[in-house]
Amino acid sequence: MTQPTDRPGIDQLRNLADRAERGPLTGEEAARLRDGIAKLDARVDYLAGYAATLETYAAEQRERADKAEAERDAAQGDRDGWRDRALGYRLATERVRALHSRWEYDANSCSVCVDCYGTPLSYPCPTVAVLDQHGQHGQTTA
Ligand SMILES: [Zn+2]
Repeated sequence: MTQPTDRPGIDQLRNLADRAERGPLTGEEAARLRDGIAKLDARVDYLAGYAATLETYAAEQRERADKAEAERDAAQGDRDGWRDRALGYRLATERVRALHSRWEYDANSCSVCVDCYGTPLSYPCPTVAVLDQHGQHGQTTA
């Protein structure tokens, strides 16, 4: 859209209006008045088109902002979900570790693990050993 370079001569139009108050316009004056109105009309059309372009641009920017906000919210949701899962796994690991504690009647045996004869396994039992291998913290010594 090209901006009209030939701006309507507002002062000329005012002069013509002043002139019209004093008596009928000449043919040349009426032609200048029509020309000024046409230029003004072209300017209004240009500005209306420019306003529509700006409205379209603003709508696109709002759409981009909404999309970015939705993506941010989704990422936040993913992060929260992973954090919740990690916390759940950590708590489950701590419960397993607490379950496989030293047996109160023999501190060198696991409180729950037994072999096929029912004999308690030594502490730390294989379960606690696996947890220790994966860097889990907790009670490994007493
Ligand atoms: Zn055990």
